[in-house]
This record gives sequence, C-alpha cells and structure tokens, in this order.
Amino acid sequence: MSIRISQSKCVGCGKCIEACPGNLIKKDAQGKAYIKHIRDCWGCTSCLKECKTGAVFFYLGADIGGHGSTLSFSEKGDISTWKVTDISGNVQTIEVNKKDANKY
Ligand code: SF4
Ligand code: SF4
Repeated sequence: MSIRISQSKCVGCGKCIEACPGNLIKKDAQGKAYIKHIRDCWGCTSCLKECKTGAVFFYLGADIGGHGSTLSFSEKGDISTWKVTDISGNVQTIEVNKKDANKY
C-alpha cells in the first residue's frame, strides 16, 4: 500500500511532509511533494488529511482487496469526506461529521 501525489494539484505547502510519521515524503526540485520511500508507507493517511488541495491519493492495492482503487479525502467545516474511486471511475463516498466522531 502507498500514496500517490498529483504533481499538478500539489502547491508545495509541505503539510504532508510535516505530517508523515515516517519522514517518507520529500520535495523535488520544483518544490512539489513526492513519496521517496514508497515501500515504507504503512497507510496511516495522515498526509491525505493534511493536504488541502486534494493532491494526495491513497492507493488501495490488491493486497488489501482494493483492486487498484484510490482513496481521497476532503474536508469542509465539520464534515470529512472520503471518496473511493475504482478503476472504472465509479465513486463511493463516505461522509463523517466530526461532531459525531465520539458517538460510536
Ligand atoms: S500537503 Fe498537498 S499541496 Fe502541500 S506539499 Fe503535500 S501534496 Fe503538496
Ligand atoms: S500514508 Fe502515512 S506513512 Fe504513508 S506517506 Fe502518508 S503519512 Fe506517511
């Protein structure tokens, strides 16, 4: 499992770099983030949640039953939205209200 970073969406803010507990993300010569140590990513999703431009995608490989789907994250107010996009482009959305996070 690993992440992918869209170079066109990345604005080089560095938030994902600060968030990664494994120090796996670096900046290239253009100031864009990229994951340097792909195999060491354990999928904590911290970098997804910190990226405000939606540049970071989590790759759901066959090893976890994802069959090449990707997971993305966005946030508006108290609502966190997780989107799973399969290889055919079909999207499933999961919304979580932070106010309800401790009710389960
Ligand atoms: S948080 Fe997003 S926009 Fe900022 S450096 Fe990382 S990938 Fe780029
Ligand atoms: S998912 Fe976690 S371990 Fe993997 S690159 Fe992002 S912050 Fe680092």
